[in-house]
Amino acid sequence: MNNTKKKVEDSGSEKSDISGKRFNWTWVYVFIFILLVSSSVFNFFPSGKEITWQQFEKDIIYKNAVDKIVVVNNESAEVYIKKEMINDPAFKEVLKPLFGKGFNPGPHYSFTIGSVESFERKLEEAQKITIGADKINVSYVKKTNWFWGILGWVLPFFLLFAVWNFLIKKSVGVGGIGTGGSSVFNFGKSTATLFEKEKSTVTFDDVAGLDEAEMEVREIIEFLKNPDSFTSLGAKIPKGVIIVGPPGTGKTLLAKAVAGEAQVPFFSISGSEFVEMFVGVGASRVRDLFKRAKEKAPCIIFIDEIDAIGRSRGKGAFLSGANDERESTLNQLLTEMDGFGTNSGVIVLAATNRADMLDTALLRPGRFDRHIYLELPNLKEREAIFKVHLRPLKTDETIDPHFFAAQTPGFSGADIANICNESALIAARRKKDAIGRQDFLDAIDRIVAGIEKKSKIILPEEKKIIAYHEAGHAIVSWYLKHVDPIIKVSIIPRGKSLGAAWYLPEEKQLRSESAFTEHLCATLAGRASEEIIFGEVSSGALDDLEKVTKEAYMMVVYYGFNKKIGNISFYDSSGQSESSFQKPYSEETGKLIDEEVRKLVSDSYLRTKEILKDHSASLHQVADLLLKKEVVFKEDLENILGKRDEIKDQTFLQKSIPVMA
Ligand code: ATP
Repeated sequence: MNNTKKKVEDSGSEKSDISGKRFNWTWVYVFIFILLVSSSVFNFFPSGKEITWQQFEKDIIYKNAVDKIVVVNNESAEVYIKKEMINDPAFKEVLKPLFGKGFNPGPHYSFTIGSVESFERKLEEAQKITIGADKINVSYVKKTNWFWGILGWVLPFFLLFAVWNFLIKKSVGVGGIGTGGSSVFNFGKSTATLFEKEKSTVTFDDVAGLDEAEMEVREIIEFLKNPDSFTSLGAKIPKGVIIVGPPGTGKTLLAKAVAGEAQVPFFSISGSEFVEMFVGVGASRVRDLFKRAKEKAPCIIFIDEIDAIGRSRGKGAFLSGANDERESTLNQLLTEMDGFGTNSGVIVLAATNRADMLDTALLRPGRFDRHIYLELPNLKEREAIFKVHLRPLKTDETIDPHFFAAQTPGFSGADIANICNESALIAARRKKDAIGRQDFLDAIDRIVAGIEKKSKIILPEEKKIIAYHEAGHAIVSWYLKHVDPIIKVSIIPRGKSLGAAWYLPEEKQLRSESAFTEHLCATLAGRASEEIIFGEVSSGALDDLEKVTKEAYMMVVYYGFNKKIGNISFYDSSGQSESSFQKPYSEETGKLIDEEVRKLVSDSYLRTKEILKDHSASLHQVADLLLKKEVVFKEDLENILGKRDEIKDQTFLQKSIPVMA
């Protein structure tokens, strides 16, 4: 599979494109290194074997072997041996290795002189002793070592440059695959990865449950392949398509499939790769990307996580720190999208989780003309996604994609891919030959609630509180018809929670007010149960209370469920309010909202306690069973509470509902 995929990295640097070769700085570094090492190891400027004055006096002067002495820079003396003395065994062994077999012109020995005066004095005294010896010829010269001189100048500059290049590489290289940004010389170049034709392995076969979206993107491929059939009728080809959807719903996957099927060059870049700490780089990269794309037209540009640059200008500038760089990058993107004609053969695909954050100028027709909305998959779509991800797995006959799809409402495609992988890991850990149904169910539990922590030390009295807490959830959920069906309750610690109740949410598009209120009751049931049984409450309801508070505020502030507040919603789909300091309502309304939310929660709590008191015998039974078995399934609950459909005391429940304001 992999060998068919070849990522062509295009730096966008024209120079390097034309020559086909890039200048390799590594060789320069290697050369300088070798030069430095060799200059210190082998002496390029030989000055003979280093000896001491005593050796010189005893072994050379007294033997009358000195031809001449050259004092260099008033620092060292270089000694030349008489030609006829070179074959003297005393010198031969030392001098031969210096220059091989031939005649060595010298200097043959050297030593450091303290000062010229003391050297001359010592030399004179030594010569006095050697009677009959020739007078030693001494000359004085100045030598400059040009190599070290130049190196002394060049090295600091070179080091500065190397450090600067390294720092810039570090700051730019974060973008990953980037090619253009990885050097000082192509800093402003786009870091987009270019996938050439027929090189992407992902196809529409790998994308499941996105039929409508798939149709839309297939049309784009058609635009690029046969533009004439559209333009001949006067139609303008869309310039941009934006794919919007929650995380993990397959936006990137869809774009990859387009790359695989389109048979045209495909530039892929993430929004964050445009923006650097240096001002102007983002805009320059956008310019470069579009320039390269136009050269390769017809082609597709894919910008993942476009919200990194496409966020509304001026929004949240105070909170997030005014980001001129991001804004100028966005401006450049807007200009570029205006700049190329509708029929230029470049189509921009973009993906984001937050369309509400995007600048409206980006979304207007003429730029991103088409919007594709992806949602969390429904039952049928999940089944199809399971089938895609089950394909490469080794499974046994107990596997049923439909059953798994039914167990995973609210899961995204990425969650399903994760479950399939996790189940394979679990089966491998169990040393099985094939993955079975139970492995999948365990993988689902693990992904929903975290890993089981059986080793966590829980005191018996704590365990009892947890059992009653969870039993409370189970009982209230069982008797309230709008609450999702409960499938199991457990008091085995998992992830951060000490116990959990598993529900199977129905896939509804609308939730009624009663559904919201009953959900509040079911969530409060753990705390209510603790209060009824133990007379006081514990800290174990933190998560429940957080959910309840959020949901109650949503009911009052967003959904207009409260009579006193009325049919008013303070929800802001444009996301502007997130960065605003001001509440969209007055001080009095704020107070009223708080009061109504408190009332809603306390009424729900009262109602919950009523239900639990009415079924206190069942509450004890379920809690006891939980303490015994740790996990109680729907069937066990049916044994204790009867079938859920046969709710006999509906009338009682209706009556006991505290009237909401
Ligand atoms: P995000 O917004 O977080 O970037 P995304 O929507 O781009 O998420 P992808 O990266 O496309 O999500 O999906 C992640 C993985 O989930 C994919 O690699 C794929 O394995 C799986 N997946 C998601 N949706 C589907 C689908 N419809 N069919 C098959 N696999 C899917």
